[in-house]
Amino acid sequence: MNRVFYRDLIEHDHVYTDSGDDEIGLMMRSSFKSGLCPICVCETSIYQHIPEDQVPPPEPYGHYVIMQPVMLVCGSCGWWQSKAICLTKSHPSLPKFKGANSEWAYSYHPVIEQVDITSNKVAIADIRQHLLKNWEDRKLISAGKAELLVESLLKEHLKCDVFSSTANVNKPDGGIDLFVAHDNGEVKAAVQVKRRITKDVEPVTEVRNFVGALAIENIQKGIFVTTAERYSSVARDIPEKLNSRLELELISGNELFDILKCFTKPDDLIIPPYVKADMMWKDNCGNSLKLEEILNV
Ligand SMILES: [Zn+2]
Repeated sequence: MNRVFYRDLIEHDHVYTDSGDDEIGLMMRSSFKSGLCPICVCETSIYQHIPEDQVPPPEPYGHYVIMQPVMLVCGSCGWWQSKAICLTKSHPSLPKFKGANSEWAYSYHPVIEQVDITSNKVAIADIRQHLLKNWEDRKLISAGKAELLVESLLKEHLKCDVFSSTANVNKPDGGIDLFVAHDNGEVKAAVQVKRRITKDVEPVTEVRNFVGALAIENIQKGIFVTTAERYSSVARDIPEKLNSRLELELISGNELFDILKCFTKPDDLIIPPYVKADMMWKDNCGNSLKLEEILNV
């Protein structure tokens, strides 16, 4: 499952494009004409921001210019590009401006990167950004990445060092995935991570196995994290049943999502300088859309 990430903004100066030296600038111009994406040659969608009628400046400034940003977006590969059209308006007391409207001297496109969320090479920061918007896709990430995700979230949530228990890596189950450590390196708690693909409810079995592993390793505190939405009621009763023998914390998928939301700031939108994040856009059918909707971020 691929997701497009916008990394950076590239500016194309019309002067440079006109001289023929800016190949990407020329490619962008031709795709604005053809309506086809320069990357995957698919039909693109065009969106325009129609500026609200501005109060004309007082005379004698008879003509004034307003900028109308345009976005060309490929729904297939996620590429977009933007230019702004400068419309010359006339003061109501004057005859209409007859000259041609011009284009803003710069056009923009982002550096885009398609990232496979299911891959074992995907960066945890990208997984966090993706899951922030698409939590249901937690089922698509690999078990190894789920462990790294929990490691990164618990580090921030507990404000402690959390590291992988590599010694247990090849054990099939019932083991310990992560350790939480005090500042002095002493182990504070052990963590088990279960990435669930089909289950919405975490049953008691693995929780019991984890308690067994804690007892065997003589660790006083355990944190069991599942990506399943919630725990079965039998599993939920276990921490209380343990009394003071062991401390067990259960973190459900819903709670993990709360932690993710708490510690993940959405990436800033990569947008041209004349585009504001709250601008509304019109598609060809006259529907009004937000920028996030047209860029699908
Ligand atoms: Zn495309």
